[in-house]
Amino acid sequence: MVVQPLSKKEVFIILEKMRLLQTVFKFIGDISNMKVLIVEDEDGLRKSIDQYLTAEGNVCDCASTYEAASQKLAIYDYDCILLDLTLPDGEGLELLRNLKKRNKADGVLIISARNSIDQKIEGLSLGADDYLIKPFYLSELNARIMAIVRRRNFNGNDLIHFNEIEINLIAKEIKVKNLPVYFTRKEFDLILYFIANKNKVISRAAAAEHIWGDDADMADSFDFIYTHIKNIRKKLTDAGSKDYFNSVYGVGYKFIDA
Ligand code: CA
Repeated sequence: MVVQPLSKKEVFIILEKMRLLQTVFKFIGDISNMKVLIVEDEDGLRKSIDQYLTAEGNVCDCASTYEAASQKLAIYDYDCILLDLTLPDGEGLELLRNLKKRNKADGVLIISARNSIDQKIEGLSLGADDYLIKPFYLSELNARIMAIVRRRNFNGNDLIHFNEIEINLIAKEIKVKNLPVYFTRKEFDLILYFIANKNKVISRAAAAEHIWGDDADMADSFDFIYTHIKNIRKKLTDAGSKDYFNSVYGVGYKFIDA
């Protein structure tokens, strides 16, 4: 096999990727670094979920039996528990019942092959946050976990208030001084991200990675974030909000409650 030397452009792209990753890990830590317990007796599925979520920057524990899961839950707290309902030595719903009896606040996402409406209603009424039917895409699983953890980071409220700004996480609507203001989905996610990380410097690279994930074109500049922030600031201030975005020269922005 002939190994071709890397071109200047390829080296640039690799360095840029490394720099971006460092920035992302530094600034995005408290949202992406979730602790997840995977309760699933199907080896292949458990391993692929573990690999996928770990690669996404999360910390995963695994349990393949009711007993193993009980032991972990007795000792640790998790941002989210993925709960299979049929385990070789017990019922997933029983684990959920015990968890709620002890007033544990871990988020719970039921993953089940049983597409039974009764199971679903029972799981949700016992306090599970969401329910996903197997088979599912790992990206969908990840999105559901993120949604659960985000809601929990905002104290389980569907409504977030930041002075005159109100954000409805379920309806994905934003009001300023009680009047709805239209934002695109990307703008909505950016506002949420900045409010979740208020008073912290967010680099343009971190913001891009948060919103676009792997689709963010690593080699390009992140000027499009500048454009998005400019539009968001205009919409907010036009609606009578104060301007909470502070530019941090050469880095990005800080959303501050001044
Ligand atoms: Ca099972």
